[in-house]
Amino acid sequence: MTITIHRGLNQIGGCITEISTDSSRVFIDLGQNLPGNGEKTTPEQDKAMVESLFRNNPRAHEAVVYTHGHEDHIGLFNYVPKGIPQMIGEGAKEVLLEKYRIFCEKDVKEGSDPTMDRRKYNKLKTFKTWPRSRQPQPFSIGNIQITPFFNCHSIYDSYMFLIEADGKRIWHTGDFRQHGWTGGKLMQLLKWKATDIDVLITEGTMLGSSDECIHEKRVSEKMAAVMQAFKYVFVLASSTDIERLASINLAAKRSHKPLYICQGLMNAAMRVFTRREAETSEGLFDFKPHFYNENRRLFSMGKHEFVLVCGVSQYEKIEMLRGVLPEEETLLIYSSWDGYYKDPEQVKTNPMYSLFRNIFHNVVDIHTSGHADRKTIQKVIETVNPKQAIIGIHKEKGQTLASLPLSDELKGKLLELDESHPSLTL
Ligand SMILES: [Zn+2]
Repeated sequence: MTITIHRGLNQIGGCITEISTDSSRVFIDLGQNLPGNGEKTTPEQDKAMVESLFRNNPRAHEAVVYTHGHEDHIGLFNYVPKGIPQMIGEGAKEVLLEKYRIFCEKDVKEGSDPTMDRRKYNKLKTFKTWPRSRQPQPFSIGNIQITPFFNCHSIYDSYMFLIEADGKRIWHTGDFRQHGWTGGKLMQLLKWKATDIDVLITEGTMLGSSDECIHEKRVSEKMAAVMQAFKYVFVLASSTDIERLASINLAAKRSHKPLYICQGLMNAAMRVFTRREAETSEGLFDFKPHFYNENRRLFSMGKHEFVLVCGVSQYEKIEMLRGVLPEEETLLIYSSWDGYYKDPEQVKTNPMYSLFRNIFHNVVDIHTSGHADRKTIQKVIETVNPKQAIIGIHKEKGQTLASLPLSDELKGKLLELDESHPSLTL
C-alpha cells in the first residue's frame, strides 16, 4: 500500500491524499487552494492538474472520498472524470446541493451565466453517500475498505476515516476539533476504533498557535452576555456551521431575543440541520428562526429587539438596515476567523469581511477555531499511538508536528514528507 500526499503538506487546505494498492486507489479530498495558501491557480490549471492525477497510476477500482464540504477539501470535484465514483456524508451532500441550487437561482436572477453552477449541481447529484450512524459501516473500493466516523468541525457532517488494505490500517483525521458541541467523545472514539493503527495522518492547522481554544459552549455564554446589553444584535457567522449556529441560537434564547436570518442558504441549511439532527441532539440543533429575505420586512425590524445572523453576502441589506437603527443600541458580534479582516493578503483577496465590520460602531469578536489546538493534536497522537508513522497535513508552511512535546518514541515515528518525497510505501 502506498500513501501519497499530493497537496496540503505545507499549506492549509488544497488537500489531496492518495492511498493505493496494486488493484485499487482512493483519493481522500480534492481541495481547492485557499487564498493566501499555496499557489494561486486558474480553473484551467486546476482541471489539468486533476486530469493528470487520474491519468497517472490508474487502477481498476478508483474513487474520491471527501471528509467534509469545505472548498479546501471538495473544491475540485467538478473536474473528476466521468465514471469515477465520488462519495461524501449524506448530510454534507444535502447541504451542498442546497448551496448550488441557490447559486444557480442567484445566477439567473442577477443575469450571469449559470452553466458552471448548474454543472456542479448535477455532478453533486451523482455523489454516493454514507448515512450518519452511531454504528458506522465500512464500504469498499476494490480491496481498500473505508469506515467513516462522524467528527466535530466548523461545517456540518464532517468525518474521520479508518482505511484498511493489504493488512494495514491508516487513520485519517480530516479537519477536526474537540472543543465543539459534538467533539466531546473524540478520545473515546479513538480508544475504541483507532486501534492497531499503522499510520496516522492528522491535520495541524493550529500548530503555530500556543492558545488553547475556548469551547463552543463558552462562545455561546459570551454571546448571551453581550446580547443582553444591546437592543439590536447582528451576528456574522457561516451559514453551514451547525455548531456555531447552535451557539447563537442558544445565546439568543438566553437573552430573550427572537432569532432572525436573512440568507437563503442559511435558511435551507437550518432546515436540513433541524430535520436531520433536532431529535438526536435533544433540541440543540433545532432551529426555528424568522426568515426575512425581503427588504420591506427587514426594515420593519427596528420596532423590537432582535438577534439577526447574517453573512457578508448580505452586505447591502445590512448596511441599509444598520442605517435606520440607533448606533448606540446596535452591536455586531463578529463570529468568524479574524484573519479575514486582520491579514492584509486576505483583505486584498476578499475585502467583504473588513467592509462588513466597518458598517458597525460597536463590534465584539466572539469566535473559536474549527480546528484542534496543539494540546488536542498531541493527545490524538498519543491515543492513536501508531505503529509505524505519523504524517502531518493541512498545516502552515514551516510548522511541524515535531514542535509538540511528544515522547522520543513518538517523535521517532514522525514522518516529514515534502514535495520531492510525498509518498510512503508500507
Ligand atoms: Zn480544511
